Amino acid sequence: MLDINKVRSQFPILTQKVNGKPLVYFDNAATSQKPKVVIDAIANYYEEINANIHRGVHKLSQLATDAYEQSRLKIQQHLNAKHNFEIIFTAGTTAGINLVANGFGSLLKNDDEVIISALEHHSNIVPWQMLCEKTGAKLKVIPMDENAELLLEEYEKLLSEKTKIVAVNYISNAIGTINPIEKIIEKAHQVGAAVLIDAAQSAPHIKVDVQKLDCDFYIFSGHKICGPTGTGILYGKEKWLNQLPPYQGGGEMIKEVTFEKTTYAEIPHKFEAGTPNISGGIVLGKAIDFLNEIGFENIQQYEHELLQYATAKLLEIDGLKIYGPKMLDKKTSVISFNIEGLHPYDVGSIVDNMGIAVRTGHHCAQPVMQFFDIPGTIRASFSFYNTKEEIDALIVALHKAKSMLA
Ligand SMILES: *Cc1c(COP(=O)(O)O)cnc(C)c1O
Repeated sequence: MLDINKVRSQFPILTQKVNGKPLVYFDNAATSQKPKVVIDAIANYYEEINANIHRGVHKLSQLATDAYEQSRLKIQQHLNAKHNFEIIFTAGTTAGINLVANGFGSLLKNDDEVIISALEHHSNIVPWQMLCEKTGAKLKVIPMDENAELLLEEYEKLLSEKTKIVAVNYISNAIGTINPIEKIIEKAHQVGAAVLIDAAQSAPHIKVDVQKLDCDFYIFSGHKICGPTGTGILYGKEKWLNQLPPYQGGGEMIKEVTFEKTTYAEIPHKFEAGTPNISGGIVLGKAIDFLNEIGFENIQQYEHELLQYATAKLLEIDGLKIYGPKMLDKKTSVISFNIEGLHPYDVGSIVDNMGIAVRTGHHCAQPVMQFFDIPGTIRASFSFYNTKEEIDALIVALHKAKSMLA
């Protein structure tokens, strides 16, 4: 069981007042707040071991290198990856997807195909469009139904020996749909395609075993899992990481450099050019420890309770429509909604005046908004440090917005 008061006491920002009201932070799908252990670990790194890694023989460089590589091991264990060199530190989900999409530029031919889904974040659309433009490959999109659930029968029709990579999110940031990635992976492998999972929204809620899942790439951001901004992880199967060319050239990623020719370092270093976000990589490991101490099962159970509670309360509001699966088991704790006749931005502003942070707009998923023919939604996304009382405050604020804007 999750001790909510104990959990909340570890997040300094949650005691803040916004516009004279207690902060209610419901924008967790955009970024999570940070616990004290993470904030302290950043200062601790700079106060005690700051040095460049993989280079110096001096003591601090060794300490920093050890801490960085320990963090890689921790993340390997967390994902149950087979090897530590399958864990690449990146700047975030966007950076990880671009690394892979860019690498596939050397593997794809004219007429090959890339499959994404109707529920993707722009980060998992645009890099593939750029890849297709460069190679002449074609982009195919798995369609969805009115409940924002992907149509698997249509997906199967898109697959063929031309399909080289399928890139889908595990959980949609705009709607909260949990996609059936096990089936998506299995079917893609039947035609020999690689599968990339955009795990930006699943990493905060679900602990996965990448070997059991059998995905080829699993990519997420540190800042959405209580870690620092500018950090991220790309897990890739050894055979794929060896096949892909490096993304950026520079220091750290080489074996030998002459003016005639450069040979590259082995993975993971081949993909880690330049001085990385050293403190970020180390502290990301601390964030993952923090989440594992609370326990992903506890997190999921608690967040599901919040989802059920908020869904029921919101649906009592006249004219309020929630987008996404009706079955709450197919969703994570994200609620994307509109109130009939009101612009999401206007509602968001009034709610903000009452200290409540929700997201309004297209949530970096314009095609999802185009599908529903709306300019955007109001999105409340809950984390394990939110409470039912906070949801009650949102309901009060929405009633107020309705009466002010009516
Ligand atoms: C947040 C998010 C991204 C982009 O992550 P960055 O941290 O901005 O790189 C990609 N996909 C999904 C599903 C997201 O939620």
